[in-house]
Parts: sequence; structure tokens; C-alpha cells
Amino acid sequence: MNIRSQIAMVFHLDKCIGCHTCSIACKNIWTDRKGTEYMWWNNVETKPGTGYPSKWEDQDIYKGGWEKKGKNIKLKGMDKKSTYINIFHNPNMPSMDDYYEPWTYDYGHLLDAPAGEDQPTARPISLVTGGPMDIKTGPNWDDDLGGSQDYARKDINMKNISPAEQEAMFQLERMTMHYLPRICNHCLNAACVAACPSGAVYKRGEDGIVLINQNKCRSWRMCVSACPYKKSYYNWNSGKSEKCLLCYPRLESGQAPACMHTCVGRIRYLGVLLYDADRIKEIASCDEKDLVSKQMEIYVDPFDEEVIKSAKATGVADSTITAAQQSPVWKFLKVWGIALPLHPEFRTLPNLFYVPPLLPTMGTTSSGTYESTSSSLWGTIEESRVPMQYLANLFTAGNTEKVKEVLKKLMAVRIHRRDVTVGDFKKEEVEKALSETGLTSEIADDIFRLTSLPKFNERFVIPAAHREEAEELIENTADIKGNKGFGSVQKPKRI
Ligand code: SF4
Ligand code: SF4
Repeated sequence: MNIRSQIAMVFHLDKCIGCHTCSIACKNIWTDRKGTEYMWWNNVETKPGTGYPSKWEDQDIYKGGWEKKGKNIKLKGMDKKSTYINIFHNPNMPSMDDYYEPWTYDYGHLLDAPAGEDQPTARPISLVTGGPMDIKTGPNWDDDLGGSQDYARKDINMKNISPAEQEAMFQLERMTMHYLPRICNHCLNAACVAACPSGAVYKRGEDGIVLINQNKCRSWRMCVSACPYKKSYYNWNSGKSEKCLLCYPRLESGQAPACMHTCVGRIRYLGVLLYDADRIKEIASCDEKDLVSKQMEIYVDPFDEEVIKSAKATGVADSTITAAQQSPVWKFLKVWGIALPLHPEFRTLPNLFYVPPLLPTMGTTSSGTYESTSSSLWGTIEESRVPMQYLANLFTAGNTEKVKEVLKKLMAVRIHRRDVTVGDFKKEEVEKALSETGLTSEIADDIFRLTSLPKFNERFVIPAAHREEAEELIENTADIKGNKGFGSVQKPKRI
């Protein structure tokens, strides 16, 4: 056993309202300077949809993540030889068309335009050419277009869903969508770390945050192509790659990351998980069908005496162990089993988990009034509007049983709470829903409480910082904001 600590996150998708406040908070703190115009370390996309950068999930195009070769795994898009051959031209990079052409507006015209008949407007100006442009796409261009031809129908997660089922998904009365906010997953088996020829990408020992050393980075951009989630970006101005750093300067001073702090839907939870680093290779290379359950095994019980002993032996601080015991992520993931990783088949062992969206009810208006099509108040999971295969393609590498298991638990909580507050379910129906999913009314209340009414310190359990360079926390880093990020104390040199 080699116990390490990892900061991990849960995003509860039923609660995301797609307001993009998280993206704006992140953009304003970290990526509002030259070279970062197109970067969205946090972005929110609509599913079904093609996302940002376009079709990022399609590794036939981008060749990111890992693939199984015999009993082992290897990076999908590169090995030592091809890295050497392609070092001056990485062929699997997303292009500007896949992101979008960044722009600003001609705001000056609003003030300087001569008096006229019409109100002046601010035309979009390309940040690439400096000339006027027609905006054709953007980071959230597919917002709310869950049924569209161009976005929803080109979603890669439609694979293995029969054409009839796909067609049914796009009928107006069956149409459904949900939001998918995404940040770097700070993976246990990070492809970006493995791919970097300069050794500039690294995983911080004390909390598992994945960072890029700006002085070591030589702009080979292998991290950009290797990350299957496309969460590493290249800054053309500094000549360095950059990525989400989980607001580590905020975490070190006990504050939640900005995207989480500002989240309007309060969908975000952050806490410590303890994991057994000795098992990474075995788990990352297991059969695809076992990936989710095996990944859950790597996170170990923070109350277990053996685990605590081993964690202390590897230098995990007492306060981190206490934080792991109180972690909301531990509860969602292991105690209740209602959170799943995004695309586990990329084999990076991501540390951002999602509570999948509980699907809308099936209804009909054929009689002139809205009628539920199911015998009970809410339909069963089997009757849902979205094919289970779609959610399975997103969260469980295609394993529909795993998704059903989670959705049934969420439905049981909903039925139990409806019984408590309104009381219009039959008692047997409530008991059946709970017993079938192994929940008790107490557990269902706990899930309800942490989902609906959590206080700030219940959503974010952040261990105290133990960095030797504690003085960095009190240095004024705001003076180089807009120059090299907010929180950096050193400017990287372009080499
Ligand atoms: S999500 Fe991508 S950038 Fe983040 S740690 Fe994983 S592989 Fe690296
Ligand atoms: S701020 Fe929260 S609710 Fe709003 S889009 Fe982001 S994750 Fe969703």
C-alpha cells in the first residue's frame, strides 16, 4: 500500500443551470491576458452536443488518452519514436477552427460615433487579424441546442444507439438536454504528464494537482494532444502551455477554487480522497467493462487504521487525513455510490466525478392536458427519454448497468423526499424504491441534505496548507495580474 492524497471534485449535474458564471470567474482570474484569448480552463457545454473544442471526445480525431495494448496501456497518439519524429510538428493538435476565432468588440465606436439616426453598435473585431469579423462559433456556441442537427446529432456519444432510438431522442416532445461543466480532472494517470518530453508537467505531491512548470516548458505541445479532455492549452504569446491549476493559491489559503466558489447552482463539491498509488497501473490497464468499479477501488477508506498508518508513513499530514474523513467527495463516491467519472475509457483515472442528471418525466398532451405516461408519478429509469446507452457512453465506458444503478438511487431519494414532504406515494412504493437500491431513509435524507441544503463548509472541505514556502501566500501577486496569471510570483522566460 502506498497511500497518497488527492484533491477531488464532484459536480452534481441535476443542479447545473448553465449560467456560465463558473467560466467567467475562471476567465477573469486566470486567462484574461495575451495568448489566452481562446482558453477556457472551465467551460460548460450542452449535451447532446459536440462541445469545446469541437468533438473533443472523439479520439479517432485527436488521439488523446491511453489505449490498452495486451496487458499494458500506451499513450494513444504517441510513443518515444513518434514524439521524436513529430517534435517540431505535432499532427494531432486541435486547430483554431476546433476552438474558435477569438474576438472583442469595437467598444470605442459606442462613444465616438458621430450623432446619427441610428444607435451606434459595437462590431465584433477579430483578436487574430484585428479586422471586423462575422462570429461563426464560440466556446458555448451549442448552448441549449440539445436537439440540433449541427450539434446534438454529431455528438460522438450517439454511438451504439440504434437509429430509431436516436430519432426518438430528437422528437420535440422527447427532446432533452443537460449541461456538462468541465475543468481539468487532475487525473491519477495523467496523459499530459506522461506525454511531456521536457518533464514540465507534474503532479504535486501533497494534493495531486497537475501543474505545468512554466520555466521548463519548451512548447512541444504534446500535453495538448495527449489530454483526451483537451484541458491543456498552448499560449502563443509566452510560448508555454497552460492549464487549470485548481486555483492552488486559493486552496493553500483555505478558499475554494473560483469556479466552485461562484457556482450559482451550487453543483460543485471539493474534498480530499486517499488512494493507493501502487494500484494505478493495474487499474488503468484493466478491461474496459471493469474500469469504473476498479477506479472506485483505488480510493481507500480514510477511517481504516491501516490506511491511516500508511498515509502517515508517506508524509500525508494529520489535517489532510481529517479532511479526507469529512470529504463530501468521499460520501458521493464511495459511501453512497452516486458519482461517476467522465469517459473512464480514456484511462487517465480522472478525479472529477459527476452525479448524472436524473432524467425528465415522460409526458403527453394528446388529451389537451399534460398527462404522465407512466403509472406512477415519475416514470421508471427504463422509460426515460434518454437512452441509457447515451449516459453510459459518457460516464461508464458504455456499461449501462452502472448508470442505471446510480439513477435508481437518485430516483429512490426523490421518491422518499416526495413522500416526506407531500406524502402522495404508496408506502410500499417508497419502501420498494429504497430497499431495491440498498438505501435507508436516513441515507436518503443525508443525500438530500448534501445535495439541496449544504453550507459552504460542507461543500468544500479544504485541508490546511503545509507548504514550506508559506510566505508565498502573503506575497502580493496581484501586481503581475494580466501579465502572467494571478498568483504567479515569477515571470517565465521564453526560450
Ligand atoms: S484532464 Fe487532461 S490536462 Fe488534466 S490532468 Fe487529465 S490529462 Fe492532464
Ligand atoms: S456556475 Fe455552476 S450552475 Fe452555473 S454553469 Fe457553472 S457549474 Fe453550472
